[in-house]
Parts: sequence; C-alpha cells; structure tokens
Amino acid sequence: MRTRGSPKAGERCQLAVIGAGPAGLAAAEFAARRGYRVLLFEARRLGGTSLNTGSVPSKALIRSATLLAAIREVARLQDAAQPQPLADLQRLAARLRNIEARIDRYHSLARLAALGIEVRFASVHFIDRRTLATPAGRVTFDRALVATGARPAAHGITGLTEGSFLTSESIFDLQQLPGRLAVVGGGPLGCELAQAFCRLGAQVTIVQNEPEFLPREERDAAQILARSMARDGVNIILNTQVVGARPENGQVRLQTENYGECREVLADRVLVSVGRVPQLEGLNLESAGITFDPYEGIKVDDFLRTSNPRVYAAGDVCMSHKYTHVAQASAEIAAHNALGRGRARRFSGLTIPWCTFCAPEVAHVGLQVWEARTRHIPVKTYTVMMHDVDRAITDMQDSGFVKLHVAEGSDRLLGATIVAARASEMINEVCVAMHRGIGLRALAEVVHTYPTQSAAIRMAARSFCADVSPETPRRRAAKRTTRKTSRGR
Ligand SMILES: Cc1cc2nc3c(=O)[nH]c(=O)nc-3n(C[C@H](O)[C@H](O)[C@H](O)COP(=O)(O)OP(=O)(O)OC[C@H]3O[C@@H](n4cnc5c(N)ncnc54)[C@H](O)[C@@H]3O)c2cc1C
Repeated sequence: MRTRGSPKAGERCQLAVIGAGPAGLAAAEFAARRGYRVLLFEARRLGGTSLNTGSVPSKALIRSATLLAAIREVARLQDAAQPQPLADLQRLAARLRNIEARIDRYHSLARLAALGIEVRFASVHFIDRRTLATPAGRVTFDRALVATGARPAAHGITGLTEGSFLTSESIFDLQQLPGRLAVVGGGPLGCELAQAFCRLGAQVTIVQNEPEFLPREERDAAQILARSMARDGVNIILNTQVVGARPENGQVRLQTENYGECREVLADRVLVSVGRVPQLEGLNLESAGITFDPYEGIKVDDFLRTSNPRVYAAGDVCMSHKYTHVAQASAEIAAHNALGRGRARRFSGLTIPWCTFCAPEVAHVGLQVWEARTRHIPVKTYTVMMHDVDRAITDMQDSGFVKLHVAEGSDRLLGATIVAARASEMINEVCVAMHRGIGLRALAEVVHTYPTQSAAIRMAARSFCADVSPETPRRRAAKRTTRKTSRGR
C-alpha cells in the first residue's frame, strides 16, 4: 500500500481522484505525501472552478473595482470635479489572467509530479463499483474520491438562449464593460459581481425572485449590504421573477413580474447567477452503486463515504456549503478516511466560516440566532457597531457590526456574524476561538493592535465580561464606560 510510483492506465491505483479543483488537488496531495499511488483525472483545467472561473478571478476583479471606487473617493477630496474613472476591461482581463497564472504555478504539473501524483487530462466515468473508464483504458482503484465540483444552475427563462447571457464561467472573459448589466439572482456570487461591475462603471440592476437577497445571512447583515450596494448605485429589484427575455440588436429585454405587475429591464448584458448544481453528468454513478440527488449532489455520511464504501466524495459535488476552503478541508477528511489512516474523522467536527466579499464584507461562522432557537439552545448576543470602532472611523468604513453569539450562562462561543471592511479576515479570530474552545473571557484579555477593525471582537468580548460581572457600584460604573474604554485608547 505504501510504495510511490505512477501506474499506467489499465493498471490498478490506490486512490483515483476525479476532478482537480481544490478538493481533488487537496486529496491527491494528502495521499501522495503519505506515499500512496494516486491518479488524478481532470477533464478541463487544473485548479477547477476556484482558480479558473471562481474565487480567484472574482476576487481579482473585486480588487480592481475597489481601486476604482477608491479613486472616485479621492476625487471627492479634490477641488476640481474629475471625470469618473471607467475600467478598461481588456486590461482588466489581462490582469486577471496574470494573477491566475501566478497562483496556477502552485498547481503546476511539475509540482504535482514531484509529489508523485500522476495527472491525466481526461473525463472519466464509473463502469462498476471499483473500475473507471478512461480514454486510455480501464483503471481499477482500491479507493476513489469524486471531486467533480458544481456548475451554474440552468435558468429556465424563456427566450434567454445560449449566447445571449453570461454565467460565472464566461463573465471573466468579457473584453468590454457593458453599459447596462442585469444580474438575475441576488445570492452571494450575484451580489459580489453586481457590486464589482457597478464600481467598474456599469449600470447594474439585480433582479431577485425572493423578497430578500443573501437569504442565508442574518437580516440586519443583508440590509447593511443592500444599503451599501444602493449607495454604490446598484439597482436592486426584489420579489420579482424574470419570466422571459428577448435578445434584440445586441441588447436583451428582460420581462419581469411582481405580483402580476409586469416590467421590462433593458440590458446590454445579462449575468445569470441563480445558484450552482453538482456536476454529476456523465459519471455513471449508478453503475458504481453511488446514490445522489441531482440538486444536492452525491449522498455522503459524516465520514464523507458514499453508498459505495470504496468511494468517497468531497467539495461542491456533495456539500451544501460550496466554498474553496470547505472543498479543501472536506477532501483531506475524505482522503484520510478513504485510506484508513487512523481514527476516522467526521466532517461535522469542522468549524466552517464563509464570507460574501462585497463592500462591506459579510462573514459568518457557527450558529445563527434562529438556528440556535430552532435547536432550543438559549443564546445571548454581544454586538459592537463598527461606527464605535476607531479604525473603522479613521478609514471611513464604519458600516457594519460584530455580533458574537454565546451559549447563555457561559462564555462559550456558538457563532458570529461580522459585517465590516475586512470581515473575511476578522472572522478567522473567532474561528480559532471556537475551534480551540476559547471563551469570551479569554478573548477579552487578548491585546489587539490599535487601531484595527478586529479590536471590535475584543470590545464585544469585554462587553460580555462587563455583563456577567457581579453588580457592584464600581462595576456598574465600569459597565457604563465599557464602550468608551474598550476602544483601547
Ligand atoms: C464566481 C465564483 C466566485 C467564488 N468565490 C469564492 C470565494 O471567494 N471563496 C470561496 O471559498 N469559494 C468561492 N467560490 C466557490 C469555489 O470556487 C468552489 O467552492 C470550489 O471551486 C469547489 O471546489 P471543488 O474542487 O469541489 O470543485 P471545482 O473547483 O469545480 O473542481 C472540479 C473539477 O472537476 C473536473 N471534472 C468534472 N467532471 C469530471 C470528470 N467526469 N472527469 C474528470 N474531471 C472532471 C472539473 O473540470 C473541475 O476542474 C466561488 C465560485 C464562483 C463560481
């Protein structure tokens, strides 16, 4: 089981990994570093969605958009009215490809080969419970990991034909900034791209069929983001269904309906962002005895094992949380369990944060208040508004809050929601605390640099300490001044 080497097609391998996105790459590396023979199959490009059409290009695009927004901010400080800066999408696309190429080096064939991973560029499928069909022949595996990811969900909008709309798979190849961009869907990806394109200079309209966007987030977090996007100029139309589309003269007329009232949205480009569905097509999972649901993906247990005990799954193909870090973490657990390395690990043992990278960012980890209530867990929340945080004020990025949820009667963190300019970074401090069982009393003692946005986490922890201290006249006075003193001046 332990010798390193690369089997040829038709041979047997110890671990066959299908898909070289973050999940497949993490699993292959995990196994290869421990000396197992790994075959990694990839139908398209190494790095998967994350590197090629997901996290990496979207964050690079958001960075460019933030820079342009900052230039507009600076223009307000100048005497003369400056012309509004507009993005040159050709240069921007070139910048994205440069960034991808830099990160791509980490996934290079040479690096993978040096690790002992044999990569085959091929679309593969199951023939039976332990055999894969590849263009070069059959491969028998001891264990397999399915990590084929997800793809944009179909939209079902009459008239919106192939080529007349964009998805996350094509939007990063745009060579010209659309004058008017309509975004169908107000989930995290739709919101990120809508705000970014608006900041790049497009007129953006989001059409969302539900009464609220970011339905997974706490309502006040979503509201702050909605206000911020509206300030940027994004037009948000909620509770409205796109019922049809008519492409004409290089434009698209979207027919929308809200409680019987029809309205037309005219756009130069339409981005459809109505969710992502697991990529199961052509895998022939039935022949391997692997059960799945077309929308929820491959069914796995807490050890990430499928209904075929030889086959595991990880990442977007089986997770409700479709994120790069979840794909990587789940893949390592799946590989560990598949290869029988020591005590089996459970996916439910992970503390998983997520973030919507808008301005401000909305990050979350652990339980939300409604979830705690559903599970009958008494919860208490400590909130610090960012407009009370010195660094947020100096940077004029003070919309948002830090909310820490604790189990009532203890200082144990159950979860947190952070809305702030750097919420994606700040949430990691809460993750460490939750993962290591560090309570709010200990967090309150951690000295933070001043001035920083993450000082808000300590402020929330200190308000907990003030809250639970026995009431003495001195403590009462201290409580009254907590907000002021905990700024750390
Ligand atoms: C616009 C956008 C922005 C995003 N931003 C973020 C973000 O900021 N942070 C974050 O954490 N996540 C983000 N995500 C999500 C993230 O990209 C995914 O969660 C992540 O890529 C999932 O990794 P994966 O390995 O499961 O699947 P994928 O990355 O999709 O990789 C699957 C791979 O399997 C290959 N494959 C499929 N079928 C076969 C087959 N039969 N044979 C061989 N190969 C096959 C595919 O070609 C692909 O390369 C974003 C996604 C999008 C679309």
